[in-house]
Amino acid sequence: MKALISIDYTNDFVADNGALTTGLAGQKIEAEMLNVAESFIKNNNFVVFAIDSHDPSDRFHPEYSLFPPHNIIGTLGQQLFGSLDNLYQKYKNTNHIYWINKRHYSAFCGTDLDLRLRERCISEIHLTGVCTDICILHTAVDAYNLGYKIFIHKKAVASFNPIGHQWALNHFKNTLGATIL
Ligand code: ZN
Repeated sequence: MKALISIDYTNDFVADNGALTTGLAGQKIEAEMLNVAESFIKNNNFVVFAIDSHDPSDRFHPEYSLFPPHNIIGTLGQQLFGSLDNLYQKYKNTNHIYWINKRHYSAFCGTDLDLRLRERCISEIHLTGVCTDICILHTAVDAYNLGYKIFIHKKAVASFNPIGHQWALNHFKNTLGATIL
């Protein structure tokens, strides 16, 4: 069994006026993000939207001093970008779609993602979204340590940092044993 973990493709990370935007690099993967998600939904596979979520008054959070406020819970900035949001709105009430508000880079950190996957006997996870070298990377490292088979959709991951993006793709393959699709 397999699942798609769609990470952080929100207005704050992708739109021109997003608080921490990847800009054009992020916008370029919209069609492929949508393709992958649609194919998982059509085949009744589990699709998880693992989305950064912050409370701007939470000064104990390590990101408080690292980044400007972003993906604040309940704001437009935390909503999915473009056509991915349309897809989510259409299917969100079906039982194979699951939204996770995550506080840390990794979709596994402080969430019930591992439990949700294990109770469905899912051993293979596919990753799409942003940023390749931050949230995708941290999620992939946790998945590796938890024993999941990892698949990275190369045309559906992006970063504001092209060097970091390429470094992370190599790391997924050579160090985490991921399949790059
Ligand atoms: Zn964040």
